Amino acid sequence: MRQKSTILYAAGLLAALLAGIIYLLLADHTPPVIETDLQNALITPETEISVSLSDASPGLRSVKISLGAESGTITALSAEFSGRPASETIKFSLGRENIRRLFQNAPVTVERNDLKLLLTISATDASMAEFGKGNTGERQFELTVDLLPPRAEILACPSQIQQGRSASLVFRASEPLRGARLLVGADNEKDEFEGFTSYPQKNNIYACVFTLPHTAPPESFEPRLVLTDQAGNVSRIPLNILGLPARYREDRISVSPVFLREKAPEFMRSAPGESDALALFLRVNNEVRKANYEELRALKTRTEATPLWQGVFLRLPNAIKRSEFADRRIYFYLGREVDRQVHQGIDLASVLRDKVPAAENGRVIFAGYLGIHGNAVLLDHGLGVQTLYSHLSRLDVKPGAPVRRGRTLGLTGASGMAGGDHLHFEIFVGGVSVEPDDWLAGAVPWQLIKTLNDLQ
Ligand SMILES: [Zn+2]
Repeated sequence: MRQKSTILYAAGLLAALLAGIIYLLLADHTPPVIETDLQNALITPETEISVSLSDASPGLRSVKISLGAESGTITALSAEFSGRPASETIKFSLGRENIRRLFQNAPVTVERNDLKLLLTISATDASMAEFGKGNTGERQFELTVDLLPPRAEILACPSQIQQGRSASLVFRASEPLRGARLLVGADNEKDEFEGFTSYPQKNNIYACVFTLPHTAPPESFEPRLVLTDQAGNVSRIPLNILGLPARYREDRISVSPVFLREKAPEFMRSAPGESDALALFLRVNNEVRKANYEELRALKTRTEATPLWQGVFLRLPNAIKRSEFADRRIYFYLGREVDRQVHQGIDLASVLRDKVPAAENGRVIFAGYLGIHGNAVLLDHGLGVQTLYSHLSRLDVKPGAPVRRGRTLGLTGASGMAGGDHLHFEIFVGGVSVEPDDWLAGAVPWQLIKTLNDLQ
């Protein structure tokens, strides 16, 4: 009996040992890998979090996402996977209801911007480890949840604005912002002009220079601030500004065969491969013009966050204005209408090869040849305000150089789409051409400086 029980005991031990070896050899002890796209610990209840789960073998069984705080813990998401997938991606957000549920017993109101919670993501694989339960991987994230959208106290805002004119807006934000744009178009999400950026000054004060674009119908003018806070909460704040229409001149321009012949060699630089003089002119006046303005508009982001100007902008001295802003130009060739374009600056004629002064303090953003503008200089003056000097016969500045008001940028000329020696002067606000008179003679540059100074 004794011998038999010893044999049984040994056999049992061997079987257990074998099972243990098989278990060690076959069982998987690696838990699933958990990865997220969380980059910022400060988020909103709506922030989408993407979680990638992977378990090469034997695959995923389940996932559980819970939120914890001093007031308790709740399950935000719990799911079982079918078919043991090797990888899964889950997108979720904390959700305002979950936050309220989590903090319902907390002694403070949950309408706050600093709620601390612990996000726990656990994923289990489909292995037989842990007595059949599978291996569980877990990751935790300490998050701060902001439930409050940003607010703005408007400090300076015009009551009305006419097409093509400039204005400034100053407001104090309730918290530091990740983004602040003034949208002007009717479309709620998209904006043809991508909006006008508001730039942070001191103490959460933001300044924005904007226009009702001269090409936009006043009835579509729906100005509103779109503010995004650091956590990602977005506020849309409508502004009560009346949009007024402007009447623009019609300017009939005769294009002569002599002009086309004289300009052909230069135009070929911008539009090679076109031998017919009129076709060449039309390509430059359309395609090249469009490309030139796209290039200039792309430079609008190369701007300082504070105004560099001190007051009214300097005009080319002793010059006669030959063309107005936003003239609707109709081009005729041998008595026949051949083209229509909008003139986006003013033309100032002085003596030949006159010195062109910088309109205000700024920085050279572009200095070189640019199609219809010929030799041109673009200066940045901060807050998205930029001035363009076109058709120069000589360039005296290099890109990147800081310039003082009155510094000579070059000499007037007739390069590009110009028949005679003059300066084409243009002002951009957020990449949109505006009436220069607001800056050369109007109160716009003073108003913003004064408002900001008064707030210091
Ligand atoms: Zn011009």
